[in-house]
Amino acid sequence: MNFCSNCGSNQLQFIVPEGDNKQRFVCPDCDTIHYQNPRIIAGCLPVFEGKILLGKRAIDPRKGYWGLPAGFLENGETPEEGALRELHEETLAKGHIKHLQSVFSLPQFNQVYLIYLVDLISDEMGTTSETLESKLFEVKDIPWEDIAFESTTFALEEYLKNPEAKMTKRGHFIWEKEKRFGI
Ligand SMILES: [Zn+2]
Repeated sequence: MNFCSNCGSNQLQFIVPEGDNKQRFVCPDCDTIHYQNPRIIAGCLPVFEGKILLGKRAIDPRKGYWGLPAGFLENGETPEEGALRELHEETLAKGHIKHLQSVFSLPQFNQVYLIYLVDLISDEMGTTSETLESKLFEVKDIPWEDIAFESTTFALEEYLKNPEAKMTKRGHFIWEKEKRFGI
């Protein structure tokens, strides 16, 4: 952070504010403390007649790889609304939320994924500016080697252990160990 978003000062200091225990960007000109917190990514695990909808990414990062429809939650939106919005924006598909399927954290990227199990209302889908191809995969055809993100791999693996399970699965990713951890 180079400039104060409140007053425009370029004198920001990275210090531990009084009464705090973490370093924050603090503006000496207007006394604003700039708290930075993880971002929420809402997404879907969309299912239709036992098949799973994946989108082939048209944009970086991981262009050309397959992922579950997901994106940053917008202000003023619930995670459920965000998940269904991303589903439609990325694949033109529509569905209903069943339950929260997985929570997957990437502490080193300051991201938390909330993935909802979604029943698609039909097999209607398409390509968009964000997706080169939208496709329903039989379980045996899931392109495990070409999955874009760990959060998707985790959600799919956990889902396929028992597709009827209603429990939310929790996991996280540690970059140095290049490893997923389920809880
Ligand atoms: Zn300021």
